[in-house]
Formats: sequence, structure tokens, C-alpha cells
Amino acid sequence: MEMEMEKSRVLVVGGTGYIGRRIVKASLEAGHPTYVLQRAEIGLDIDKLQMLLSFKKQGAHLVEASYSDHQSLVEAVKLADVVISAISGAHIRSHQILLQLKLVEAIKEAGNVKKFLPSEFGMDPARMAHGLAPGRITFDEKMVVRKAIEEAGIPRTYVSANCFAGYFAGGLCQIGRITPARDRVLILGDGNAKAIFVDEDDVAAYTIKAIDDPRTLNKTVYLRPQENILSQRELVEIWESLIGKTLEKIQVPEEEFLDSMKGKDIGQQAGIGHLYHILYEGCLTNFEIGEEGVEASQLYPDINYTRMTDYLKQYL
Ligand code: NDP
Repeated sequence: MEMEMEKSRVLVVGGTGYIGRRIVKASLEAGHPTYVLQRAEIGLDIDKLQMLLSFKKQGAHLVEASYSDHQSLVEAVKLADVVISAISGAHIRSHQILLQLKLVEAIKEAGNVKKFLPSEFGMDPARMAHGLAPGRITFDEKMVVRKAIEEAGIPRTYVSANCFAGYFAGGLCQIGRITPARDRVLILGDGNAKAIFVDEDDVAAYTIKAIDDPRTLNKTVYLRPQENILSQRELVEIWESLIGKTLEKIQVPEEEFLDSMKGKDIGQQAGIGHLYHILYEGCLTNFEIGEEGVEASQLYPDINYTRMTDYLKQYL
């Protein structure tokens, strides 16, 4: 008789966040016993509490712990086979990547965790040593966390999710916009560099698929769904065909784009730097995945990922 493999127990840290809530949902849907960290510090944040309670209604277990109470973190991670962190790491919202060093300490002490997925879910920080300030803080801090994980000998998987569609496709890659324009659009560079756009629910689904897969052990999982590898011009064309109108296009030379950082807050500066790397440099697609990585849509062809035509329809 074929034995069904037991599903690993998953602890999600940062579970109420933008990507974290989707990871909790995907974990529950895939049938993993799912634990979600409930921070003691949430105070009177009733929206957060209600989200946590809604996870509980869907079958998750809430685990109280605090980053300032090491033992509570150790007890929390002891409940799980796999720990997924989705702690914040975008300057427009909150940036707490280094808090994960406390989580790494707890995982090391608990000693039971079979795999840790730190909060990555973006560009591969290992390829961004040349990143522009101040946005490079994200890459640098993620590398500090990687080093701690690797030095502690913790089995791991890094998920490189490329562009969350909500931020990048939704706004047609415009700084300061998350909805698609209907009149004119700035084309960054020649507009032909290929980027990769991924629906956030698909990011979560691929992440959950990867946790029990031995092929992802100590590897980076790159999310490159073939039909979502698009240039900015191709993305704009998709939107144009949906609205039945051609947008005015204004090409922005490299220097002008970089100059636009001046006087902006750190969130926007980081965003400009990241978009520079993605759309002028083509940093998401200008390399082959080597021995250290695997590609998610090849590993999990059963995931029917969302194409950008369907994603953009929601803004009509
Ligand atoms: P969020 O800003 O939504 O925050 C996630 C969670 O971080 C929060 O819900 C909270 O978890 C926790 N958190 C926030 N502040 C604190 C604090 N002071 N102390 C402890 N915990 C805190 O994160 P995102 O979903 O935007 O980012 C997650 C990851 O995704 C990051 O690594 C980021 O770099 C990456 N990212 C990638 C993008 C892309 O396009 N590829 C775009 C944006 C982010 P809780 O309250 O539940 O404990």
C-alpha cells in the first residue's frame, strides 16, 4: 500500500503581513499543520488580531511569542518542522530583516527544524553586491541573515520571487503608483529589459510546494513562470489591449531616472534603485540559474500560475 508522506508542520513568522498572510493560506490549503506566530507586542492592533483569529478559524494554531523573549521563540520553533519567515523588508512599509537573527538563534537552540525559509521573496541578494544605496540595505541585511543561517548549519531554502505583481505590474512599473495609468506611462530605459512578474498568491503556493521537496534543500528557488517574463513595454501592451487604448510613452534615460532619487524619502529612493536594477540593468533575467538554484515553474508545473493579462483585468 502506498503510504502518504506526512505533511510537515509549518510555523509562519510575520504571518499577518502582505506576503505572510498568503503563505499562511497556502500552507493551510496544502494541508500542513500550520502555526502562526502571534507577537506579544501587537497591543491594540485589532485588525492584526482579527486576521490572526481568522487564521485560527481556518485551522491554524496561534503561538504567542516575542522577539525580546528568546525562550518564547525557542518554544515556538520547537512546534514546527519548517519555519517560514515573512517579516517586513520594504522601506515603504517597514524593514525588520535583521530581527531574524533572533529567530536564527532560536532555531539553532531548538535543533529540530528541518528547514528554514528566511524572509527573501525578492531579487536574489547574493547577486546584488553592486546594489545602489539606500535600497541595497535590503540585500545587505538579507545576506547577513543568510550568513547566520549557514554558519549555524540550519537547512534552508531561499525563495527569489522577483517582482510582486501588485507593486510592479499593477502600477506598470511607475514610481509611486500601484494602479495602471490610462493616459501616459514612463518607459524606463528602452523598455525592453525582461523582468518577471509573479502573482503574490503564486509566490505563496510555490513557497509551500518547496518546503518538503528535497530538490530545494540548501538551494535558491527562483520563480520564473515563463509567460510572466516580460519587458515593461510588453506589460504596457497587455494593459493597452485590455483598455483598448494606446498610452503615451515617455522614455526616461538612465541618468534622469537616477537623478529623480534626489529629495525623495528612503522608501521612494529604495524603489527607484530597485527599479533601476530591474529595468535598466535587467538584473532578474541577466543570469542563468546555476547549480545553486532551481526554477519553481519547472519543479511544479501543476501550479497554474496567473498570467499578467488576468492579473491586470482586476484594475479594469
Ligand atoms: P510587511 O510589511 O507586510 O510585514 C510583514 C510582517 O513583518 C508584519 O506583518 C509583522 O508580522 C512583521 N513586522 C513588521 N514590523 C515588525 C516589528 N517591528 N517587529 C516584529 N515584526 C514586525 O512585509 P512584506 O510582506 O511587504 O515583505 C515580506 C518580504 O517580502 C520581505 O523580505 C520583503 O523584502 C519582500 N518583498 C518583496 C517584494 C517583491 O516585489 N518581490 C515587494 C515587497 C516585499 P506579524 O505582526 O504578523 O508578526
